[in-house]
Amino acid sequence: MGLLSVKCPYCGSTKVVKFGKHPNGAQQYTCHNKECSRSIFQLDYKYHACAPGIKFRILKMAINGAGVRDISRVLHISTDVVIDTLKKKKTGINK
Ligand SMILES: [Zn+2]
Repeated sequence: MGLLSVKCPYCGSTKVVKFGKHPNGAQQYTCHNKECSRSIFQLDYKYHACAPGIKFRILKMAINGAGVRDISRVLHISTDVVIDTLKKKKTGINK
């Protein structure tokens, strides 16, 4: 039996405690850092589109010239998630 140290993927805090199970059986954790933007998270997401940082990776790949189906194949997410993420991104050019 080993000790698993869990860090919050959003703020990096180690003040993390277990917070029950998701209906799909995955262990959920909650972050006790008051300044953290996200309170509940999982270490291993069954649905990859919900994993932290996936939207940033979609945008980064799109900027570097990858197509929708390329991104979908590499990140193991659906093309609908890629398209929705790209549509919702505000460029900041047309304010
Ligand atoms: Zn946190």
